[in-house]
Amino acid sequence: MAYAPLELLAKNTQETRLREERSLRQRLLKYEEILENASIGIAFTRDQRFEHANPRFEELLGWPRGALAGQPVHVVWRSRQEHTAISAFVGPLLARGQSADFEHEIARRDGSAFLARIRAKSADPTHPTRGGTIWIVEDITEERRSVEALRRAHDELEIRVRESTAALAEANARLRDEIAERESAERRIRHLAHHDVLTGLPNRRLLHKRLEQAVVSARDGGRSAAVIFIDLDRFKTINDSLGHAVGDTLLRAVALRLTDALGPADTVARVGGDEFVVVPGDATGADEATAVSGRLLECLSQPYEITGYSLRVTPSIGISVYPRDGEDAETLLSRADAAMYHAKAEGRQCFRFFTERVERASTQSLQLENELHAAVMRGELVLHYQPRFDLSRRGFVAVEALVRWQHPRRGMIGPAEFIPLAEETGLIHPIGEWVLGEACRQQRHWHERGFVPGSIAVNLSARQFRSPELADTVRRIVEDAGVDPRTIEIEITESTLMHDGGQALATLQALAALGIRISIDDFGTGYSSLSYLKRFPVHLLKIDRSFVRELPANADDATIVRAIAGLAASLGLRVVAEGIETEDQLRFLQGVGCGEGQGFLFAPPMPAGELERRFAHRGAVH
Ligand code: C2E
Ligand code: MG
Ligand code: MG
Repeated sequence: MAYAPLELLAKNTQETRLREERSLRQRLLKYEEILENASIGIAFTRDQRFEHANPRFEELLGWPRGALAGQPVHVVWRSRQEHTAISAFVGPLLARGQSADFEHEIARRDGSAFLARIRAKSADPTHPTRGGTIWIVEDITEERRSVEALRRAHDELEIRVRESTAALAEANARLRDEIAERESAERRIRHLAHHDVLTGLPNRRLLHKRLEQAVVSARDGGRSAAVIFIDLDRFKTINDSLGHAVGDTLLRAVALRLTDALGPADTVARVGGDEFVVVPGDATGADEATAVSGRLLECLSQPYEITGYSLRVTPSIGISVYPRDGEDAETLLSRADAAMYHAKAEGRQCFRFFTERVERASTQSLQLENELHAAVMRGELVLHYQPRFDLSRRGFVAVEALVRWQHPRRGMIGPAEFIPLAEETGLIHPIGEWVLGEACRQQRHWHERGFVPGSIAVNLSARQFRSPELADTVRRIVEDAGVDPRTIEIEITESTLMHDGGQALATLQALAALGIRISIDDFGTGYSSLSYLKRFPVHLLKIDRSFVRELPANADDATIVRAIAGLAASLGLRVVAEGIETEDQLRFLQGVGCGEGQGFLFAPPMPAGELERRFAHRGAVH
């Protein structure tokens, strides 16, 4: 029984070994199966040769199944040198019991290569150098390619983002520029809407606003405020005769003088062609307005030196005061305007306050305009005739027809009061035709009665003269009346002639062709030169009354009149002096060779009947 346990032990030991062998075999089979089916390449090398490689390894490297076993290990590298370099890198790591992990290209059997992730480790860590090496190989070409593609896509995306960011920044900058430009255009438009382009001064709109503010603050403070309305005398003459460029320069010079003369709190605006309005900034009563207006009158009346001309332009000024003359901007402005007209009527170059009289006059002028429409139809216009004399023989050579309005209530109204109104409204056309027709009929009537007053001179206004049908109208009227056109003279003012050289020349030539003679009225006020006049078929110059008035005492006037008489004689033009009132004037004019004259010294304008009575016995001198 003593052996029994030994036998049993031996039997047990054998059984155990068999069991272990079986399980080892099974394990090996399992490992082999794993190896055979692994999706990564696994190979075992020893002493620089392949001992075993799994199917995936051989497939990766392009070797037939089982062909790698026995091959030297360098066949998987692209060259011997490469093999040496890799051994030098891997060897020491394995010797230290570590694994070598790296990526490298591996050569296929056909010579091509692929990128692999490689892990090399000792098969037996206890004998790293002798126990052989396990190589695990993965083909990472695809992985690399997709990483590379990913990186490229990322780079491209980044470039795109950078590009679109730059484009966005550019668009943003452009937008900012556009907004800035639009804002500055809007500022310009706002400025233009409130300022006068020529002078840069506030315009009527801005003036209105400022005046309203001034009225409000005067009302709140229980103070007064003033409106000063300025109009330049005879600016139109300068504009017409010297041209718009000179006119514009003059207006700018006036604007400059106004701003220089006033303070920053005062408003100066240009509200029309030659009209300016000042609203003094500080509460201003009548006394202060008087002082300011006096100063403006003085500084604006100084001569202006403009492109070689020394121009003298004087202002007429009208003043209205809040609250006395009006309680709102509109009323104050229109009353200052009316006061300005009053200043003009009172001889210009002065200032006048708005008064009841001014108000009456301005409502009267409105009424006048309405009544003037009917005046021609109702036969309220009459002609007076003023004789013109030969200064050496004192016989009369012609008569000038001067229109008057026999107003049913107001009596006789002079042309100065209604001709400008007729010009403005266009009524001058029917009035002018009536005047010419009436003068021609009178001429014929006198002829029939054996009274020969020489020529009849008829005044034409600028607006009539500009009408292209003028020559035809004149011919028709003269023919209808049955008078000799050579006994008709037409008077146009110097500034009218200067206004439009081309059209004026054609009209004058057409009139001259009819046999009508042409006189230049108010000569000397229009800045024209005699050589300029030579271009026109002109027969006669009438020296303006303003040059005659102070003769012979005024040395300047004496020089001007002497020069006009001398030059006119050399050009073969007859000269008439207007407004002769004294014997001294007459003597002076005779002395400088002025041929003809007209004036109260000889006779004022008078009705046809009276002229005939007084002069029939004397007859005209031809
Ligand atoms: P004008 O053609 O220069 O006429 C001369 C003006 O001087 C006339 O004024 C006349 O009465 C005035 N006068 C004549 N001699 C003297 C004098 O010795 N001293 C003074 N202080 N004045 C004198 P009137 O009749 O008031 O005419 C004024 C202006 O009205 C005329 O100036 C003319 O330009 C215009 N006018 C008159 N009749 C007509 C017309 O039928 N048609 C047009 N378009 N204008 C006319
Ligand atoms: Mg005249
Ligand atoms: Mg005249």
